[in-house]
Amino acid sequence: MRGNVVSYIDMCQKEGTSLQRGMNFRLKGHHSVILMSVRPNAPYHDEVQAERQSGGTLTENGKFHQAAQRFKCGEKGPDIVQVYEKIKAGIWTDNGFFHLVDSWIVNNGTRNVFKFKLAAVESVSDESAAEEIPSRLVVRSRIIPTSVKLEVWARDGGKCVTCGASDELHFDHILPFSRGGTSVKVENVQLLCARHNLAKSAKIQ
Ligand SMILES: [Zn+2]
Repeated sequence: MRGNVVSYIDMCQKEGTSLQRGMNFRLKGHHSVILMSVRPNAPYHDEVQAERQSGGTLTENGKFHQAAQRFKCGEKGPDIVQVYEKIKAGIWTDNGFFHLVDSWIVNNGTRNVFKFKLAAVESVSDESAAEEIPSRLVVRSRIIPTSVKLEVWARDGGKCVTCGASDELHFDHILPFSRGGTSVKVENVQLLCARHNLAKSAKIQ
């Protein structure tokens, strides 16, 4: 679930594989997975030089690039990418699903660097990942910027603000996003454990 604080083991269990690298194209034939440590709305930088390995097969970056270009020229729907963001050592957040909408290559003076553009999607079903799916782009983002997450984590001491639990944590919008609550202000974000997060959603609905 988007906003959940997860451990590396949680991520691997959810994806059903051992995640060893940043770019993982279409794991098990479904969505792709990117592990990142920059804000999701910024273009993703990946410093890998080659689009093809020496044997001529596409690198992971090459595969993402090809998929993005095929989407851009209208050949297929956007690829679905699950993004996990490292906020500090051993602490990751589940940033949810994105569409891979663009890619380009820039030369930074010493090497070619791939850049990828991701657009947040509200929800997708994994089965449709290989098909064309309706695009529901969000302008106002549910995604809480890294700087806000870090400040909230420090303020709340890495614990649920209600009970002090330090496991199964979630970055919660105090005024819910669906009711106009913002993601970009520290004052509107708090840490809740899974139990108190559920109790809160039950009360709101
Ligand atoms: Zn709690």
